[in-house]
Order: sequence, then C-alpha cells, then structure tokens
Amino acid sequence: YAAKESRNEYRLYMPKWTEKLPRQMMLENGLRAAAEAGELEVYYQPQMDCRTGRLTGLEALTRWNHPVMGLLSPQEFIPVAEEIGMIADMDEWVLEKVCMQHVRWEEVLGYPVKVAVNLSARQLNRPHLPERIQQILQRHEVDPSQLEIEITESAGLTKAEATIRLLKELRRIGVGTAIDDFGTGHSALAYLKKFDFSVLKIDKTFIRGLDHDPVNRALVQAIVDMAHALGLRTVAEGVETEAELARLKQIGCDTVQGYLLSRPLPAREIEAFLTSKGTPQYSTLHK
Ligand code: C2E
Ligand code: MG
Ligand code: MG
Ligand code: MG
Repeated sequence: YAAKESRNEYRLYMPKWTEKLPRQMMLENGLRAAAEAGELEVYYQPQMDCRTGRLTGLEALTRWNHPVMGLLSPQEFIPVAEEIGMIADMDEWVLEKVCMQHVRWEEVLGYPVKVAVNLSARQLNRPHLPERIQQILQRHEVDPSQLEIEITESAGLTKAEATIRLLKELRRIGVGTAIDDFGTGHSALAYLKKFDFSVLKIDKTFIRGLDHDPVNRALVQAIVDMAHALGLRTVAEGVETEAELARLKQIGCDTVQGYLLSRPLPAREIEAFLTSKGTPQYSTLHK
C-alpha cells in the first residue's frame, strides 16, 4: 500500500500511524465494555428560542469517561465505534438513556423537554431502524414528537436514497429530523428539497465572528431565508458571544445552541440549570 505513495507522503504518514496505534487499540478494546462499566455518559446542551429566550430542547452528546485517558470526546470514539461495528448498539443505548431521562425530567420539572439525538451515518440504511426507534419510544412511553434525530449533512447526501426513505419513515412515526452541520458538505441549497427534514442546524464555522464577518453574515442570512422558504426551523450551533446572538436575532434565526447559554452538561447538572431558570413558560433561559 505504502509503495504506491510518494516517498514524501509515506514519510509524513508513518510517524502518525505508529504513534496512534496503541491509543487506537486501547480505545477499541475498552469501548465494548465501556457502556456496561458505566463509563459512557450522555451530556445535554440546551437550545433556546431566539425571540422568547425560552428553552426549546436539549441535544444529547455522549462522553466516554475512560479510566486511564480521562474524558474523551465523541470526535475520537464515535469513529472507533463505527469501525468496530458497535455504533448501532451505542446509539440505541443513548436513545434508551435519553428516554429514561425524558421521563424523569417531566416528573421533576413538570414539563416535557424535547431531546435531539445524533445518529451515525453508518446506520442510515440499517434495516428496521425506524421500527427500532419507535419500539424504544413506546417502551418508555415517550411521545415521538419529543424526539429529534440529527443526521450530519455529508452523511445524508452520500446515501441519498436510504436517507430519503428513513426521513419519510421518521416523519410518519412523528419523530423530528434535523440536518446537522449544514454548510460543511457539498450540497447545493436546492438539494434540500429532496430531503424531508424538519430542522436545519447551521454549522458553527459560519457562526464564528458573525458580528464582524460580512461573508458569514451573508451566508447565514441566505441559509436561514432558504430554510424558511422550505418550511424548516433553523438552529445555529456553537453560539459563543452576545454579539453573535444579537446578529442571529436580526437575521431571523429561530433557535440557538452554544457555550453562551451553556456547555453540554451531565443530566443532573442540566436539571439544576433548568430548575434555576424556572419553567419555560414563566422564565427565560438567557437573562
Ligand atoms: P454535533 O452533533 O454537531 O454536536 C455539536 C458539537 O459542538 C458538540 O461537540 C458540542 O459540544 C460542540 N459545541 C456546542 N456548543 C459549542 C460552542 O459554543 N463552541 C464550540 N466550539 N463547540 C460547541 P461534541 O460533544 O464533541 O460532539 C462532536 C460530534 O460527535 C457531534 O457533533 C456529533 O456529530 C457526534 N456525537 C456526539 N454524541 C454522539 C452520539 O451519541 N452518537 C453519535 N452517532 N454521534 C455523536
Ligand atoms: Mg448534532
Ligand atoms: Mg455532527
Ligand atoms: Mg453540528
């Protein structure tokens, strides 16, 4: 394999490979037992309505508390889970956790909190996926409208047929669907028409410096207008500053998510965060 590469590429590639191997093996070996060992934990990040400041929902983001390597980012272990064929089990485990949490929050907080769950691209054409999702929801008696499934843009477009079918099924069941990281893939805007998403999440690279970057401002405005024309709700991810939020309000974006509001937090801390903000009917999340 390496013989095909030029000498330079080979030399660049080698050290990275040899240095990554033990860590990779540690991840692969540990991941199978991680869920049972209680090392996986679902964190939650709030989403807020731009106009009213009310909570619109939470995004579930998984963390791996590794006994040796510490808190690991999904950016590191999700690809490993995909590689070793474990991602379907992991995503189902996350959905189970989210459903249990949803039931608890409705009890404790007194109102239902909608949760968005990320779905790996590897699962887009998995047989009976919508039925499995429906079964989990039914088992926990969670209303399908309380769940949103997020699919990353680049993933959706490479498996277009499977994605279109899946989205149709999820809509039939009553589950919301979001196109994640919008703007980072290769899709033409008009291509969105083919896909029956209910929400469009604008990637954080477009949000950064929105207040002083005229190019990003023009792009986000165009994305929001186009999404609304197609009947999609818009969520801006990675909102970190007041200035970015102000600009998003001006642009007409519906929902924001980002460190400005809160980092992703463990379930118990999110519960405390939401309790301290009062009910969404009487209080606002942001000031
Ligand atoms: P994503 O779905 O696009 O999630 C948003 C990411 O942005 C999260 O990274 C979140 O922590 C981060 N983020 C939120 N607010 C801010 C901000 O203000 N500034 C910055 N710089 N970043 C912010 P995280 O948690 O590391 O997750 C990375 C990706 O891993 C996610 O991207 C998602 O695609 C994937 N992922 C996470 N949990 C799961 C899971 O349970 N299953 C699957 N299949 N994928 C997951
Ligand atoms: Mg997401
Ligand atoms: Mg993503
Ligand atoms: Mg994203």
